[in-house]
Amino acid sequence: MNRMMILSKPALHQGFEQQRSLHHVGIHEFVHLLDKADGSTDGHPEALLPPPLLSPWVKLMHREIAAIKAGRSDINVYGSTNEAEFFSVVSEYFFQQPERLEKNHPALFDMLEKIFRQDLA
Ligand SMILES: [Zn+2]
Repeated sequence: MNRMMILSKPALHQGFEQQRSLHHVGIHEFVHLLDKADGSTDGHPEALLPPPLLSPWVKLMHREIAAIKAGRSDINVYGSTNEAEFFSVVSEYFFQQPERLEKNHPALFDMLEKIFRQDLA
């Protein structure tokens, strides 16, 4: 995680081959690096998110992580490991299946559009 990302080649290929899958190791690990741009891999992307949105983002993360833990979410359960894994896991979802994320988690979709400066709608 210091200036270098090491990926399994078969796992990376798998992410590109399964278009509809929510899993993409390349996106997952790259988002950890983006998260770390402010110095810490903590799921708080201070380098990407305007400061006024940081607190709403953290509240949203806590709500979504609680829903995963309660079995009331289609987000990969690995995302409930901690905030850093949550950020990477929902970023995979965002880029792999944006329409489904927008439908099932509109607030999360809006926030990730701002974080990544994307307009996937
Ligand atoms: Zn991870």
